[in-house]
Amino acid sequence: NSFDDLGLAEPLLRAVRAEGYTHPTPIQAQVIPAMLAGRDIVGIAQTGTGKTAAFTLPLLHAIAQRGERPAPRRCHALVLVPTRELAAQVADSVRAYGRHTRPSVALVIGGARPGPQIRALSGGVDLVIATPGRLLDHMGAGAISLASTGTVVLDEADQMLDLGFMPAIRRVMAALPAVRHTALLSATMPKPIRALANDFLSDPAEISV
Ligand code: AMP
Repeated sequence: NSFDDLGLAEPLLRAVRAEGYTHPTPIQAQVIPAMLAGRDIVGIAQTGTGKTAAFTLPLLHAIAQRGERPAPRRCHALVLVPTRELAAQVADSVRAYGRHTRPSVALVIGGARPGPQIRALSGGVDLVIATPGRLLDHMGAGAISLASTGTVVLDEADQMLDLGFMPAIRRVMAALPAVRHTALLSATMPKPIRALANDFLSDPAEISV
């Protein structure tokens, strides 16, 4: 039960140690190896369980292994979140855990001016952290394409449902490549979230903490 046994690259382990984490939380111990093995994931977990690191660390691992930058207006990985506050929180985690691997990241969130977001996307970025509505706006304007996005995480899916984002999420999912890795995290599993998982995930590992 140590971070060293999960299969993460050394620069990420160093960052985790710098955060003062000694042991993975239960969701991390299960989600990290499954994501590194390429499994789709349904994770049922509340805030406070360490779920952010559970999906962020495997994303950063894949980005670091890959090395090359994405093409202009493309991204390798996407995290969808319900609110700009959660986007900022995920971005803080990415910054902390990515301190040695230094991924390029763009925030695509409602309530902020679109111009700087469009410029941030223009050269291509490793990771986009987005709220669904604004992401669709940028996709419609040609500022971002998901055609080479190989990994997507839906964080706090039940919150996104409550905020009315389900149609937007389905449109985003339909724009992703058919061959991809998908992780869905949710505190609860109401029917529409279960249906989303059935429609867009492939043989997911179901992890509940
Ligand atoms: P989250 O559930 O992602 O919102 O994380 C809750 C809090 O737990 C955050 O403040 C993290 O910094 C902290 N945390 C995450 N993983 C660990 C760990 N393995 N050991 C100690 N603290 C952690």
